[in-house]
Amino acid sequence: MIAEKPINFLLVDDLEENLLALEALLQRDGLTCLKARSGEEALELLLTHEVALALLDVQMPGMDGFELAEFMRGSERARHIPIIFLTAGAANLQRRFRGYEAGAVDFIQKPIEPNVLRSKAAVFFDLHQQRQQIERQRDELDAAAQALRRADRHKDNFLAVLAHELRNPVAALGGGLHLLNKDIPPERARDIRVRMDRMLSHLSHLVDDLLDVSRVSQGKISLKKERIELGDALRSAIEASQHNIDAGSHRFDADLPDEAIWLDADHTRVAQIVANLLNNAAKYTPPGGEITLTARRLDAEVEIRVTDTGVGIPPAMQSRIFEIFAQVEDHLTKAQGGLGIGLALVKQLVALHRGTIEVESAGEHLGSTFIVRLPTID
Ligand code: ADP
Repeated sequence: MIAEKPINFLLVDDLEENLLALEALLQRDGLTCLKARSGEEALELLLTHEVALALLDVQMPGMDGFELAEFMRGSERARHIPIIFLTAGAANLQRRFRGYEAGAVDFIQKPIEPNVLRSKAAVFFDLHQQRQQIERQRDELDAAAQALRRADRHKDNFLAVLAHELRNPVAALGGGLHLLNKDIPPERARDIRVRMDRMLSHLSHLVDDLLDVSRVSQGKISLKKERIELGDALRSAIEASQHNIDAGSHRFDADLPDEAIWLDADHTRVAQIVANLLNNAAKYTPPGGEITLTARRLDAEVEIRVTDTGVGIPPAMQSRIFEIFAQVEDHLTKAQGGLGIGLALVKQLVALHRGTIEVESAGEHLGSTFIVRLPTID
């Protein structure tokens, strides 16, 4: 909830004692009184303040109340401000004031009846407050509509990319099956099976990630948290990504602590987080690169770092790559059918473990480091 803005009201009277008396009469919490001793002073205040109501003494030396009101009606900023004229006698009412159509106008005769003035002013203050509230709600609705439009565009884009990504492996699997049904030499058949196997595992990864993302965003992923040893989870992660690291002919180095580090965590999910980062490191590093995995204990948490010597991430994208579907445009040839959901999932899984993830990269072709911090237990 946004705090209510204070409401300003303007008092214009050439007599100081009248200003003080009116202020005392109307002042209450949430209201700010702006006082002007002349029409000119009032116009100056109106240039810099938003005002809910103006109380104008009609009879003032120099610019009188009606003249001031006409100036106000002529100004874009002040023309809709409701005005209450304070008049000394009925004679003043005879004078025609042009400008009724632009905003509310009322007259109060002196001597002022405090209750009458208070209740009339209260109506205008309430109206002003309601208008502010409506404006706030309109802004909130605008922002929500914009976010929905963005999400809708993301979804359309995603469906198009997904269809494209599914079509390739499905076509390859179909082609492979077709060939296997023919009479082909066993060696060729073995190659085809290996390729089909790879396609199938790519497809099932894609589908698993998609299911995970939708489960996480619906709050349906429940971690099987238990007392686990970090080293075990890291070894599972290495095992799961070794194939990709080898396929890129990368040098891999793991620097894990000798002591056991215990976490209250889901072994499979922690392994999934790190495997995902290692797979990305392998994917976004040109062949023959270097990938390292390190873990070290810091007070009540463990810091896991996955570093590569790959294509790096431009500074402008570093805060965005954890958003779902976010991909660095120049990397698309290296994404190998990725959909930009891996890091979003990783971030959500890290958060479910009450941890944090960040990325560091000095820029293009300068490698990247992903840093995950997870709370430890004794
Ligand atoms: P993708 O399926 O595209 O790999 P991710 O969510 O895993 O999706 O990653 C999002 C984007 O972040 C990638 O498309 C890539 O541009 C960038 N990225 C992720 N990891 C790395 C890395 N180790 N080096 C360089 N860029 C990376």
